[in-house]
Amino acid sequence: MERVFAYVIVGGGVAAGYAALEFTKRGVSHAQLCIISEEPVAPYERPTLSKKFLHPESPARLPSFHTCVGANEELLTPTWYEEHASGETIRYETLIIATGAKALKLEEFGVKGSEAENVCYLRDLADADRLVNVMQSCTGGNAVVIGGGYIAMECAASLVTNKINVTMVFPEAHCMPRLFTPKIASYYEDYYQSKGVKFIRGTILSSFEFDSNGKVTAVNLRDGSQIPVDMVVVGIGIRPNTSLFEGQLTMEKGGIKVNGKLQTSNDSVYAVGDVAVFPVDLCGRIRRLEHVDSARKTAKHVAAVIMEPDKTGEFEYLPLFYSKAFSFSWRFYGDNAGEVVHFGDYLGTKFGAYWINNGHLVGSFLEGGTEDEFEAIANAAQLKPAVDDLAEVGRQGLNFAMTG
Ligand code: FAD
Ligand code: NDP
Repeated sequence: MERVFAYVIVGGGVAAGYAALEFTKRGVSHAQLCIISEEPVAPYERPTLSKKFLHPESPARLPSFHTCVGANEELLTPTWYEEHASGETIRYETLIIATGAKALKLEEFGVKGSEAENVCYLRDLADADRLVNVMQSCTGGNAVVIGGGYIAMECAASLVTNKINVTMVFPEAHCMPRLFTPKIASYYEDYYQSKGVKFIRGTILSSFEFDSNGKVTAVNLRDGSQIPVDMVVVGIGIRPNTSLFEGQLTMEKGGIKVNGKLQTSNDSVYAVGDVAVFPVDLCGRIRRLEHVDSARKTAKHVAAVIMEPDKTGEFEYLPLFYSKAFSFSWRFYGDNAGEVVHFGDYLGTKFGAYWINNGHLVGSFLEGGTEDEFEAIANAAQLKPAVDDLAEVGRQGLNFAMTG
């Protein structure tokens, strides 16, 4: 049967959940909205998968982390969708693309073995279930974590908490190289090392060794070394799911290009979340962000743009990245461009950094802040105060943001 919906969202992840809530808040009825989802479960807060989902004690399980609890909004369980949205569709008046991204596979780098039963990726609930099962079968054993980014750092911490010995392998000189300075990275690396994590930097995986059942028994590195393993976790980045739209919409920076109204090169098609490349005025350029805050906020904004076009302006956004692992909790706001001034106690638990570009503070990082302190560093990145004495800003540290 052919059905027509006013609003169709392709992709049933974070952005879809937040858009659905915003549409219904704005009076859209169940007959008007359709979500086409590849995953068999209702949209959920994906960040939970690398955090509470992996806890050995009282782990989070659905339905507790469906969207939109992550922003202290309503929990949209499958029942909510039955009441507010509906199944199949092929026609739309307005289409919202929220297809997110898929994990890059080792095969793209010429390494075979992603399908082995003890090699884990982490993008969706099925991956997370599998990771939990593999972890539980490896207690006391050895894991190699491939990558030095978000997945690798958060999973390494969870593996340790699950009593697994961890070696991290990545090509750069330090972890989280796209955001962390060497000083910030070395704080976290030292802590991970104190928890028993080993770091092998500046090299990559070249192949796996397998047993007769196809299970990986060791990883071979390009530097010639070999590490015996019971399990492998791979976090080497993502690729946005844009293939359905190639040749139909303008693409840039690997994603779907949208304007300040989140509208693609086709007037009736919008894109949000990890797939969207949108103008970030505060950074003075277009960006594709792979973080949950921008997925939630682009989703909310697109519903407003579509429902109340005359009252809704362009999407104005202050980038927010955050992570939690072990007892750490950091946030970064703004743009990590220019020179860096570190502040605070890098031997303790509260420290941070400001990025100064062309005489203005443009980015701020804080580990271990209170809500008020995080709000202050967010305001600083938003207001972009002039800075002419970097050393003085470093001396003032957090006070610069708190009193600014
Ligand atoms: P997704 O949430 O990925 O949703 C896309 C959905 O579309 C998926 O369900 C997918 O199956 C579906 N889909 C794809 N193609 C199609 C198709 N053709 N038809 C139908 N459906 C399709 N960010 C943070 O800021 N902080 C964190 O702590 C954090 N933790 C994370 C932990 C993990 C394990 C992961 C994987 C990501 C994490 N992120 C975090 C990133 C954040 O989750 C993403 O930025 C966010 O989920 C993007 O939302 P989205 O809706 O664009 O995409
Ligand atoms: P990231 O892009 O954060 O990190 C990938 C890392 O792997 C980079 O350091 C990359 O190096 C390295 N790498 C690339 N190729 C290889 C290789 N062949 N061998 C070893 N290392 C390699 O991606 P993740 O996979 O960590 O995360 C996936 C997605 O999930 C991202 O969108 C991320 O934002 C999101 N996520 C966010 C979280 C958060 O915000 N707290 C938590 C978990 C996931 P290089 O930079 O040189 O390419």
